[in-house]
Amino acid sequence: MHVHDLLQRGLQRDHLTAEEGVFLFEQSSTAELMYVGHQLRMHHVPNDVVTWIIDRNSNTTNVCVANCKFCNFYRRPGHEEAYITTIEEYKQKIEETFRLGGEQLLLQGGHHPDLGLDYYVKLFKELKSLYPNLKLHALGPPEIAHITKLEKSTHTEVLQALMDAGLDSLPGAGAEILDDRVRRLISKGKCNGDEWLAVMEAAHQLRLTTSATMMFGHIETNLERMEHFVRLREVQDKKPADAKGFLAFIPGPSRTKTPYSRI
Ligand code: SF4
Repeated sequence: MHVHDLLQRGLQRDHLTAEEGVFLFEQSSTAELMYVGHQLRMHHVPNDVVTWIIDRNSNTTNVCVANCKFCNFYRRPGHEEAYITTIEEYKQKIEETFRLGGEQLLLQGGHHPDLGLDYYVKLFKELKSLYPNLKLHALGPPEIAHITKLEKSTHTEVLQALMDAGLDSLPGAGAEILDDRVRRLISKGKCNGDEWLAVMEAAHQLRLTTSATMMFGHIETNLERMEHFVRLREVQDKKPADAKGFLAFIPGPSRTKTPYSRI
């Protein structure tokens, strides 16, 4: 393998393997990667226009039974600090968001054992009836997998019901690292990597726009990072031509390695 050849192939939009990605990650310079990244960006979005959206993170509930090792947000059912956000609290948050020029709620929460599809359908309908212009970027593959399991349903049925209730797009939350060696160690209670990707495939089939994430810098190897990218790319390649699929990729560095000492 040679850095120059791989960068040339990247510029030609050839699909590199995970191993080739690791080689580039370890052997090429940041400037070279930035150059190729910029060229690819100009190919896909050939102008100087960059867009963004102002949104607010809000949590549905902190009750969760997934027990992710890195999470200090969740509380077990029955804990004295457990909560489910009320409509009055949502109204306050949404109106503050609108006042500051925001237009979207990024709505996520724990895997509450008692909150099934009916709860989220009713919530989304109520928020949309109160604020028809509000964009709901809500839940994520692990929550969809959790609701699907509670309902003994399918990803497609759950997603369709949520879209009918007002879901506008699906965040790529909870991807962490898609490799199951890593997931078993840090987030065993969440859906596995295959299911995370299957939820996204189902969303794309329904023309629901999504994003993708990666939480990196903890116990994963460079190869597991690159395999994560390859698997996302495979799902994006399968999206229908008239679907956007993954519209954004959000990498998040793990803030500290300390929590992993509990593994
Ligand atoms: S799924 Fe994991 S990260 Fe999300 S709230 Fe539950 S424990 Fe925390």
